[in-house]
Amino acid sequence: MIIFFMVVIKKVDAKPVFDSRKEKTISIFIKTNIGNFSASSPTGKSIGKFEAKSYKKNLDEDIKTIKKFSGYFNKEKIERFEDLRRIEDTVDRHIGANSLFSFESAVLKALAKEQKKEIWQLINEKAKKFPRLVGNCVGGGKHSQVLSIKKPDFQEFLIIPQEKTIEENFKKSQKIKKEIGKRLKEVDEKFKEERNDEDAWITSLNEKKILEILKEVNIPLGIDVAASSFFKRKKYYYNNPPLKRTEEEQFFYIYNLIKNFNLFYIEDPFHEEDFKNFARLLKKFPELLVVGDDLTVTNYKRLEKAIEYKSINALIVKPNQIGSLIEVKNVIELAKENNIKVIFSHRSGETEETILADLAFGFQAEFLKCGITGKEREAKIKRLIEIERSLK
Ligand code: PEP
Ligand code: MG
Repeated sequence: MIIFFMVVIKKVDAKPVFDSRKEKTISIFIKTNIGNFSASSPTGKSIGKFEAKSYKKNLDEDIKTIKKFSGYFNKEKIERFEDLRRIEDTVDRHIGANSLFSFESAVLKALAKEQKKEIWQLINEKAKKFPRLVGNCVGGGKHSQVLSIKKPDFQEFLIIPQEKTIEENFKKSQKIKKEIGKRLKEVDEKFKEERNDEDAWITSLNEKKILEILKEVNIPLGIDVAASSFFKRKKYYYNNPPLKRTEEEQFFYIYNLIKNFNLFYIEDPFHEEDFKNFARLLKKFPELLVVGDDLTVTNYKRLEKAIEYKSINALIVKPNQIGSLIEVKNVIELAKENNIKVIFSHRSGETEETILADLAFGFQAEFLKCGITGKEREAKIKRLIEIERSLK
């Protein structure tokens, strides 16, 4: 029998693969009526407390479960994005978010091929506007695992160029990152041209000194403070230099950094339960992008709470924080209804998977945060450039 315009999944398999951090993550393979497809999931390091678990129990158990479920899908006809729901109904309480996300990604690849479309077209045929690139230039926190030198307490120092095309933005980010490397070499005697988990520069400088250098470049700047990663027992514990800040002191420290360095973007400036200080900050700086990541974890209920408190005007979307792409869609719709900008984001442990670019464009996200250099990060930007060229 010939089946038109639908995908039937005949077999599902999974295996571990290594991510950019050389840690194991999951890759899913599906055999369908039209061929074989695969997709892998990234893995985070500074993981929000409210994120869905990456695996039900662990990676090996998820692989076993997927193999057991292999024959369960051969009666499901997948014809459109929304049909992913049927896969979720079958597996989602039995496997974790990394596994579900890579499974659904593989299915979307099959569906796009079957329908002679690009993946982004399965989400929105009319997509037109490209997301602006947010690139990690200098890093610290949990992404810079260095013991020999001090490191910045904040996780990411981001540059956000605004040229006309993705291609120009990509070139500009790479050029600036190189220049910043040279400046760090002049200023930081401990600088060894090393790169962290996201291929951002590792430095012994603290956040103020880094921002002073970045300010010289004259480009919109952002920070991912990832504040939960150094918040314990009601205080923020800084190492560089060593000091503690109360929640009130953290608020004013962040407030002053935004003012003094004219920041364009700030992500997770306070710990993941502090909806109130996010709201207080946004009230003071309505033009600033106040971004929730660990605060909201691509979770509908968390986003509802952030909306109720008026905590954010921009939202990180990491599909493997929740696993279900149907849920990702719901979260984005809710964000858009509430004028909250959408930032699709990579994870610190990445593979060369490129579906993130298709999702960001298909869902018409305003921003894509996926690094500047390193083959795993560049693969995603190059995919976005490919989409851009195809539409010219
Ligand atoms: C982040 O916090 O924005 C991030 C990308 O980190 P991770 O992937 O380690 O959660
Ligand atoms: Mg973050």
